[in-house]
Amino acid sequence: MNKLKVRFAPSPTGPLHIGGARSALFNYLLAENQKGEMVLRIEDTDLDRSKREYEEEIIESLKWLGIEWAEGIGAGGENGPYRQTERLAIYQEYIQKLLDSGHAYYCFCTEEELEKERQALIERGETPRYTGKCWGLTAEEREQKLAQGLKPTIRFQIPAHKIYIVDDLVRGRVSFATDDMGDFIIVKSDGIPTYNFAVVIDDFLMGITHVIRAEEHLSNTPRQLMIYDALNFKLPEFAHISLILGSDRQKMSKRHGATSLVQYRDMGYLPAAMFNFLSLMGWSPEGEEEILSPEEIIAAFSLERVAKSPAVFDLDKLNWINQQHLKKIETEELGKMLKPYLEKSGYAEEVKKLDEGKYSFLIEAVRDRLVCLSDITKHVGVIFDDLSYEDEARQVLQEDGVRPVLEAFISGFPELVSPDELKKYIKSLIKELKVKPKNVYMPLRCAISGQTHGPDLPYLISVWGKEESIRRIKDSIQTL
Ligand code: GLU
Repeated sequence: MNKLKVRFAPSPTGPLHIGGARSALFNYLLAENQKGEMVLRIEDTDLDRSKREYEEEIIESLKWLGIEWAEGIGAGGENGPYRQTERLAIYQEYIQKLLDSGHAYYCFCTEEELEKERQALIERGETPRYTGKCWGLTAEEREQKLAQGLKPTIRFQIPAHKIYIVDDLVRGRVSFATDDMGDFIIVKSDGIPTYNFAVVIDDFLMGITHVIRAEEHLSNTPRQLMIYDALNFKLPEFAHISLILGSDRQKMSKRHGATSLVQYRDMGYLPAAMFNFLSLMGWSPEGEEEILSPEEIIAAFSLERVAKSPAVFDLDKLNWINQQHLKKIETEELGKMLKPYLEKSGYAEEVKKLDEGKYSFLIEAVRDRLVCLSDITKHVGVIFDDLSYEDEARQVLQEDGVRPVLEAFISGFPELVSPDELKKYIKSLIKELKVKPKNVYMPLRCAISGQTHGPDLPYLISVWGKEESIRRIKDSIQTL
């Protein structure tokens, strides 16, 4: 059997969105699972909307996510070039074949004529489509029009009264009748082929065995099948994966928040978490476990377990998955990952002053509170900002018995402040004062941070060190 070969074929008309990333991922997962290959092809035949910057951003996003390809843009290969606008000479050969065999013909209809035809069909209650007016042009008429400098399109003639069947690997059997379809354009008047034509030539010449793409392309598939037929090309397998909906079950759009991968990267979601999250949009592993590494997902992936029903983009789930992946990162490594976010924050100077040990205490203090890396800036304010009191903290500090606890804490404060030592010290204080742990922890937290909730106290105190911690507590005793 031939080696499995898939492709991801984005149009560089915008950044890589969640949906595109999911398509790329499913292709990659199948290729890796089956020890096959993946091609990256750029479908840039929409000259007005395609941009090199988008192509670059798409590639950057794919690499960030951890998707690799052995053939195509950036990787080379023997079936190039891999940008459609650089393949025009290749397409020309097949266009000529279709013209010669009578499957395609020149069409000189103007926009106005087409619109008139459309309206007339609608008035008669028929599906608007091209009715084949230019099909009957004689060679002479055609030459005459070309001589006049008219720029024709080339249309593919749809076989009449035929049913096309796709045995889709996700959707099952889907059939399409040609009766309501009009002859469609395969070359635009500017000489550039359309997607439906170019995709067939490329998938065939690049040896693609499995076309995995978004459901929105299912309706294009019959037109592509006709071209495969007309050129006697062997068909690939098709798998159309379902739409992605927002949490309100409407088609995912900007209304639902960030939609492009770079936005998530910049917020500090982990690539492995995004990989994990995207894989679960439409696919599910056999067991209950949902937190999986890329390697585990690759090993478990199959198209049989890809659902037909739409996937829902659930930000809470992404956040949860990201937190689970964050937990697995060593503090030192996490510290390195968080540095750039802190350096860009208003606390850059303060962070610079911390030695290595204190920096790692800071990371320990806040790490469990992070949903994504950029959150770090929300959680370090308590450490670096001037002491100010929340109402609830003020109330706690005014309770009876608080002052002696704070004074006792200051008087026995150990010289060396490491979180472990502090934990031991606070424990001994609780014993000595014969009070409940919360009657030490809560006043202490309120006095030192001005808040009733926050990062783990022993770590927090370790970041400040003895002098600063005592200063804060004394301030609180005096003010309150
Ligand atoms: N260029 C198409 C898109 O970005 C790809 C369609 C396909 O995979 O066939 O939607």
